[in-house]
Amino acid sequence: MNAIEELITELAKLPGIGRKTAQRLTFHLLQQPPQQVERLASVLASVGERVRPCVDCGNLTEEQPCSICRDPRRDRTLLCVVEEPSTVGVVDRSTDFRGHYHVLGGRLSPLDGVGPEALRIDRLVQRVREGGVREVILATNPSMVGEVTATYIQQQLAGMDVRVTRLARGLPMGGDLEYVDGVTLAHALFARQDLG
Ligand SMILES: [Zn+2]
Repeated sequence: MNAIEELITELAKLPGIGRKTAQRLTFHLLQQPPQQVERLASVLASVGERVRPCVDCGNLTEEQPCSICRDPRRDRTLLCVVEEPSTVGVVDRSTDFRGHYHVLGGRLSPLDGVGPEALRIDRLVQRVREGGVREVILATNPSMVGEVTATYIQQQLAGMDVRVTRLARGLPMGGDLEYVDGVTLAHALFARQDLG
């Protein structure tokens, strides 16, 4: 594969970027001054090197633990469980939630070969077992696999001394929390329901 073809193929793997867009981006890059392209390459390389999942919550961070886990003003007794790191910012910006997070790093999807061991569910159970957590809010996406994931986690936490809640219904089914409007998300969090 030649260099142009290789770049198109890599760019086309990114979410929301089809082959056409990948081609357009590639030819755009080739028309930029070399320093510009080098700068982009070095930023990409350093992101890969410097950004890691937080040891406690799984959020992406350059420092361990992340700024949310380190913030003494946040409520440690509340844990909001989300599928992806990108959802942490969305919940934080659009709601008044000021507890801690737990990022699973995906959702249960046996058909795609994603079992519980591929997610940070063990670490979640461990965090609850360590004590001090009063409530676990399951904020997985309002989709089939999001529901399955929430139910599985609820079962893992059954019998432990912790309240387990799920975002209120009314979120568009099949959706992704990242694209839900802030008011709807804030309402769903406020009106969260007890499970079990
Ligand atoms: Zn963290």
